[in-house]
This record gives sequence, C-alpha cells and structure tokens, in this order.
Amino acid sequence: MDKQEVNKGSTKFIRAFDNVDQIYDWWDNHPDAIGIAFVGRSNVGKSSLINTLFGNKTAKTSKTPGRTQKINIFTFELTKDEEKKTYYLYDLPGYGHAQVNKSMSKNWKAVMGAFFEAINSRTLLINLQDARHPNQKVDQQFYEYINTKLIDVFLVFNKLDKLKRQKERAHLNKLKPQIIKDFKTVKNIFFVSAEKKEGVPPLELAMISFLLKPREI
Ligand code: GDP
Repeated sequence: MDKQEVNKGSTKFIRAFDNVDQIYDWWDNHPDAIGIAFVGRSNVGKSSLINTLFGNKTAKTSKTPGRTQKINIFTFELTKDEEKKTYYLYDLPGYGHAQVNKSMSKNWKAVMGAFFEAINSRTLLINLQDARHPNQKVDQQFYEYINTKLIDVFLVFNKLDKLKRQKERAHLNKLKPQIIKDFKTVKNIFFVSAEKKEGVPPLELAMISFLLKPREI
C-alpha cells in the first residue's frame, strides 16, 4: 500500500482574516476548497496540535491566551501515488477566554458566524477540548451552534498526558457514546497529547481519508 501522509513542513501561510467581507469573499472564490479547520477553547493546545500534525513552525503557540483573534489560512500538501495535492488549513481563533474584552468577543462572533455560514462541506472541522475538563459550558454552547451546520466534525480531547490514572481515561472513554448521540455532526472522537505526540497517528489517518474522499462533481 502506498503511504499517504501530510508533508510536514509543506505548510505555507497565505492569509489572515478578521472581517466578515474578507471571509465571504474567500468562500465565494474558493467554493470547492478541500481543507481542515481547527477550533477550541483558548489554551487548549490548538497551536501545539497543528504544529504536531503539520510541522513545527506552522502555528505560533501563544503565550497570551485569546490574543490571536484572526482566522489564519495556510496551504499544505499531501502526497498520494507520488502526486502532490494542495489543501487548506484554517486556524480559527479560540473561544471562551475570560480576558477577551467585549468588542473583541463581538468581532469573534461576527467573523466566526460568517465563516460557518459560508463554509463548504469539503471542510472538516476539528474541535479540541481539554481531556481534563471535557464539555465545558463554552464547548457545549459552541456545539449547539455548530450542530446546525452540515459539516463533519472530529472531536479531539487534548492533553491526555495530564490524565495519569487509567480510571480518569476510562471515564473519558465512557462519554464517547453520549457525545456521538448528542452531537450528530461529530463523526469521530480522538484522545491525544499534542505535546507528547501520543494518539496522533489515528487522527492524521482519519483526516487524510476525509481529504481524499471521492466527491460528487
Ligand atoms: P492554543 O491557545 O489552543 O493554541 O494553545 P497552545 O498550543 O498555545 O498551548 C497552550 C499551553 O498548553 C502551552 O503551554 C502548551 O505547552 C500546553 N499544551 C499543549 N498541548 C499539550 C499537551 O498535549 N499536554 C500538555 N501537558 N500540555 C500541552
């Protein structure tokens, strides 16, 4: 079987958007773009996971949570049958940080609203949660919002290394069926540690199968 993987280090930053018109323009001009978007509560380790998946220097790991309020768009490559193909990576601003002031939060809502209003079904949404604190109120609110959209979502619990005891991990595993039942858009759930690079290969494989899925024309 030929090997399919994300070409680590192939990622190129192309745009940063923070207003609604830019976002509608993007989707008007890229209606068939195939890609992956990452979103989660600030400080959940989104940048760390993006860097683990796409190569070390892709996303900045933030020292100030909630600071990056822009949608950062990158391209990346996959190699299949020795042919390189280009896809899009969307690094979405984090939600639910207490220090984000009111006007920033208003802009976040407008920008994210436009993004998910116009998003196509060829874009996979990867939502990160903290394995130690699953289903926080802001996560649930985000799910209620996203559940109305016709997109595939993978739920990824990060910082698994912080759950030291088997019992804690088993507890998290038990939540799986309920989450799948509650949120119809969630197609898959993964448990990873972006920092220790634990649990990442199955996620990468599932992402690749989404990207390579044959599409109707
Ligand atoms: P972002 O705000 O969601 O982009 O989060 P960052 O990637 O900047 O990470 C926030 C903090 O969590 C940093 O101090 C990271 O080192 C830490 N972190 C990220 N992933 C993991 C993980 O899997 N395990 C542990 N223990 N810490 C992590």
